[in-house]
Amino acid sequence: APSRHINVTLLPFGPRQRLLLARDISHMSRLEQIRRDFVANVSHELRTPLTVIHGYLELLDPEDVPHLAPVLGEMRAQSKRMGQIVEDLLMLSRLETQDHVNEERVQMAPLLATLRKEAEALSQGRHSITVENEANVDLLGSPKDLHSAFSNLVSNAVRYTPTGGRITVRWERTADGANYSVTDTGYGIPADHLSRLTERFYRVSSSRSRDSGGTGLGLSIVKHVLGLHQARLDVRSTPGRGSTFTCCFDRERLMAPETHDSKIGE
Ligand code: ADP
Repeated sequence: APSRHINVTLLPFGPRQRLLLARDISHMSRLEQIRRDFVANVSHELRTPLTVIHGYLELLDPEDVPHLAPVLGEMRAQSKRMGQIVEDLLMLSRLETQDHVNEERVQMAPLLATLRKEAEALSQGRHSITVENEANVDLLGSPKDLHSAFSNLVSNAVRYTPTGGRITVRWERTADGANYSVTDTGYGIPADHLSRLTERFYRVSSSRSRDSGGTGLGLSIVKHVLGLHQARLDVRSTPGRGSTFTCCFDRERLMAPETHDSKIGE
């Protein structure tokens, strides 16, 4: 017989009683499974034709078709964007079906250096960027996935902060673990949007987001990656002043950095 999914909730019911609610959600989880497979299949099927289109567009030389140069530029930009959406959707599908991550050492010092380079490349000198490694600990988890999550927060900070703003990336110890945070002095987010930010394709301002080149999937990816690391996303924001996105990791996820004593005297 097919397995059934029962959702059980225990509710307080009077001073000494509890109400046990059991709901059969087999139907819902089956639909959810169909939805996931569908999104994964569509994304996968779009990948090949997109790669071909993108490849040919790169081959075309704007100098051969000077009157079409602006059109060609726009087509390249849009095909790249579509490719990014497909890659993000594939990543989300993978994250959704995964129930744990391989536990590898994620070296934070080099990762922070890479994130700084990414921020500088995106900002192109338009912001002042600070990266602080105050924690001096490494993480236990998936290096690739954590890189994507951290990098999404950095690129959002750059994209939603006008020229002249400040962006601070910080890795610091807390009472019960360590926090990775990205603070910007950008547009900020009105309070009534905060709870929905991690939904797929949710945008506070769709025109600003599209112009800035986002896929609308970044924070959804962040949420899933953090979930797989038993970490939590905290968002604080003041419209017109800026935002701080914080990833809170438990102590169990931290590792003392590797010492290079063995190399001393080589
Ligand atoms: P997008 O690709 O549209 O940036 P995300 O999932 O990364 O998608 O973010 C969802 C929405 O949250 C964005 O469209 C934007 O409106 C808002 N947002 C995310 N990061 C910031 C930030 N640092 N400052 C202001 N708004 C932000």
